[in-house]
Amino acid sequence: MAFPKWVSLIFIAIVIMPLPISSNQSLSPEEELAQIPVLFLEYAKRQDLFDRMVSIRRKIHENPELCYEELETSKLIRAELDRLGIHYKYPLAETGVVGFVGTGGPPFVAIRADMDALAMQEIVEWEHKSKIPGKMHGCGHDAHVAMLLGAASILQEHRHQLQGTVVLVFQPAEEGCAGAKKMLEEGALEHVSAIFALHVAGEHPIGSVASRPGPILAASGFFEAVISGKGGHAAIPQHTIDPILAASNVIVSLQHLVSREADPLDSQVVTVGKFQGGGAFNVIPDSVTIGGTFRAFSKESFVQLRQRIKEVITGQASVQRCNATVLFNEIEKPFYPVTVNDKDLHDFFGKVAGDLLGPRNVFEKQPLMGAEDFSFYQEVIPGYFFFLGMKNDSQGQYKPGHSPDFRVNEDVLPYGAAFHASLATRYLLENQPKSTSMSDQKKKSTSTKGNFHDEL
Ligand SMILES: [Zn+2]
Ligand SMILES: [Zn+2]
Repeated sequence: MAFPKWVSLIFIAIVIMPLPISSNQSLSPEEELAQIPVLFLEYAKRQDLFDRMVSIRRKIHENPELCYEELETSKLIRAELDRLGIHYKYPLAETGVVGFVGTGGPPFVAIRADMDALAMQEIVEWEHKSKIPGKMHGCGHDAHVAMLLGAASILQEHRHQLQGTVVLVFQPAEEGCAGAKKMLEEGALEHVSAIFALHVAGEHPIGSVASRPGPILAASGFFEAVISGKGGHAAIPQHTIDPILAASNVIVSLQHLVSREADPLDSQVVTVGKFQGGGAFNVIPDSVTIGGTFRAFSKESFVQLRQRIKEVITGQASVQRCNATVLFNEIEKPFYPVTVNDKDLHDFFGKVAGDLLGPRNVFEKQPLMGAEDFSFYQEVIPGYFFFLGMKNDSQGQYKPGHSPDFRVNEDVLPYGAAFHASLATRYLLENQPKSTSMSDQKKKSTSTKGNFHDEL
């Protein structure tokens, strides 16, 4: 798809003034496309936009909100979209917001940020520390929102050059509550043909990205089991049925699922993270509750693990004369599918990322056993998920997500904004419907625009 020369000239005129345009007169269409990410990154690094993203991120960081409770975060997002003059739909999935920039017609491409925080205490002492005890943006979703709003600003500034519509997806409840699934059910990706998302990553250097085609994050599920025996005096065990011992054997047996039953080349995890039972040194309790998570990289392995977890818990408990009930809490905590990056989008991403950062700063990522509800989108349309580096050794260590001393390197914000804006803009330019004439596009654009919720 050729990129018309006038588009780049307008970019040059609007994005950065003045720019050395003399060399651009003889650019090939590929070179013109390659200019977009470069210009957007320069735009995103401008002091006013950078300051705005920092201020948004800090505001959200101070007021973390958990799954489906992101009311203030959502309000802040809508206020910013209003300020930018961007149309949006609200609410989707309780607190979600979907904005639209561009022609209002096809093609449609989505860029997504998650909005929720974690139920954990921040231990970093700084000016904008979480004001809510026991809640913290410990995964960087505050930065994700700020970057998507930064991208919204860039895209809106260049809306007349967009060759289709960018859908800005601000979704709630990524951390275990499957907000993406609900967003999908409520039509967030209507007409959308591809979706992109990023995650900040403290282990990769600032100014670099890492990803891979195919599976990158695991499928994930949770389980909880109550193992019931008969309580009594700790010194007279023969009159009791000890659920602590039964639960201990259950946990050891669960470890055999991965070490003895799974193919060693097929990565899987079973972890018991919760063990609650008893409260006294000299009492055997009536029951013990255990809970944990399981992960796998294929649907088959995941289903097999789920079945065997149930069998092992009930079977092993009965060896110790206990009863067990096993729950997977799928309503509250739906299973997350495997996050699978589309191969064509991987190639496309490689080109855009190479143009933006230089090919030497685009890394191949090893798959991780972590999970992402972005996978729900990828089950429906091609999607691409990548990690955006923020490591800077001169600023101390950036801890992994979900650490109480997790920090965001705010220098990452312009990179995220530029990535979102560049991926969306380039995707639209390179994926124009071949058979659609301009007049058809206009018709479609008018009819879709009618659905937009204009809150201006
Ligand atoms: Zn997280
Ligand atoms: Zn996260």
